[in-house]
Amino acid sequence: MDSYQSLAERVLAGDPATASDARTILSSSDEDLLDLVAAASRLRREHFGNRVKVNYLVNLKSGLCPEDCGYCSQRLGSEADILKYSWLPKDEAKRQAEFGLAGGASRVCLVASGRGPSNRDVERVSGMVEEIKTSSPDVEVCACLGFLKDGQAQRLKDAGVDAYNHNLNTAESLYPDICTTHTFADRVDTVDKARGAGLSPCSGLIVGMGETDEQIIEAIESLKAVDSDSIPVNFLIPFDGTPLEGTWTLTPQHCLRILCAVRFLCPDRELRIAGGREMHLRTLQPLSLHVANSLFLGDYLTSEGQAAEEDLDMIVDGGFEIVGAESAERLRDELKAHRAAHQAAFAEVAPGDMKSDGTSAEAAKTASTLPCGKPLPTAGQEADDSGVMIPTIRRRGAGTELTPNV
Ligand code: SF4
Repeated sequence: MDSYQSLAERVLAGDPATASDARTILSSSDEDLLDLVAAASRLRREHFGNRVKVNYLVNLKSGLCPEDCGYCSQRLGSEADILKYSWLPKDEAKRQAEFGLAGGASRVCLVASGRGPSNRDVERVSGMVEEIKTSSPDVEVCACLGFLKDGQAQRLKDAGVDAYNHNLNTAESLYPDICTTHTFADRVDTVDKARGAGLSPCSGLIVGMGETDEQIIEAIESLKAVDSDSIPVNFLIPFDGTPLEGTWTLTPQHCLRILCAVRFLCPDRELRIAGGREMHLRTLQPLSLHVANSLFLGDYLTSEGQAAEEDLDMIVDGGFEIVGAESAERLRDELKAHRAAHQAAFAEVAPGDMKSDGTSAEAAKTASTLPCGKPLPTAGQEADDSGVMIPTIRRRGAGTELTPNV
């Protein structure tokens, strides 16, 4: 390859990047990293300009899954200390979705653990979607409910679901090492069913599970083959209590190279930095938005993300705008003002005062939440005794009485 810029020009002229190009990208040196990102950024800007699509996850049903996906904190036999709950009521699902919409999300992702939905579950989710779309008609809804049976994708489509997420996760050649209760082909089948019903296929990756660079390329080629419209790239969060506990194979630089490989092979597809971005991309996160054009706001299904303000700061500081928002900067400032108002209300209770709910100032000082129920700010991650970053289990938002970090 002459240079990454000439590869970008070739791709922009309609000549697709090849597996061999991806191999060169994934084996490139740290010294070349900025040149690589600059070239990938040309493809990102060609197809998505300076816009960032903000997505928001609502975990409708958490834990207790009968499948054994090795990366998953909700798997059969997982000892991860996650929140476990059955279906959120319809009103609560709508309320949770609205937190994300207020924080700038234009797509809400409704996710449920499990092998796949019953027809009753599909009816339940359809009711939630109708409710959300009645109050927020412009929102895009993506459902992620596991394997679909015949007719279920069509029912979701009829209810107003726009997209269906079902990640291929990794290479077919690695799949038997990652999961024994279903196959890679099962996953492809559900993506096909979603696309066949007119739902936009959302299917992506989890990297950092011990795959080789060749297997990353194999997985990206499979995502091309299923014609995934949007590609979330998750970076393994190695939960304690799962088989991949303690698996740390990624570097921030290699995470960027992986994103660049996806961008070059799938230049016009939505590319999302997803779970684990904070702990793996670390200080290179802002750079990744020059390659990816989408992110999840705030927390993930079972772990905490960084504060939503930090996500919005990253977007504003990079000179990006948010899909569906008039001004990313104004949205960010409003969100910060809202948070500051909560904090001021909490701090301004004078000693001896009684709050309107009859509790004392002393009680307010020792409370673990702000007056509206929002949790006090916490770091998105903690370090264990040896300084290794460990995931912080989500204890706020869906399935709890605490409002989420947006
Ligand atoms: S099917 Fe989904 S929820 Fe169940 S273990 Fe696999 S990834 Fe986790």
